[in-house]
Amino acid sequence: MINNHCSRANCKEPAHLAELCKRHYEKKYWPKHRVYAILADMEPKAVKIGISAKPRMRMAGMQVDCPVTLDLLGDIPGSLELEARLHSLLSDYKIRGEWFWYEGEAKRVADAIAASNEKIIREFLARQDQSFEGKLKAISEG
Ligand SMILES: [Zn+2]
Repeated sequence: MINNHCSRANCKEPAHLAELCKRHYEKKYWPKHRVYAILADMEPKAVKIGISAKPRMRMAGMQVDCPVTLDLLGDIPGSLELEARLHSLLSDYKIRGEWFWYEGEAKRVADAIAASNEKIIREFLARQDQSFEGKLKAISEG
């Protein structure tokens, strides 16, 4: 019999992975997750938006197989959800995987991560939500 609810006591959320809901899964397996921005020194410049508990170690691992110099611009407290939202909202700048052209909104988001300015990130997400709601409204109103 499969239990479809989070296995934590008093948690009624649906199970996501490992019989835990999303929030408890992240708490257990991603206790100190950071959303980071890593800049690749090439022309034009590219930036990787990713998530790791140890961004600097993550970058050191990547640098071994990378011909251009990488630079950890910065990292902020994050979640898998935040990473996924940023990836989808920056899709216009996507090169491949988690790499984006360092320009426009992608540059603004990366620079906000570099400055540990979570306010700019929140505002960016809110603006995108609004423009999405606006589009839906325009469609429903014909
Ligand atoms: Zn739970």
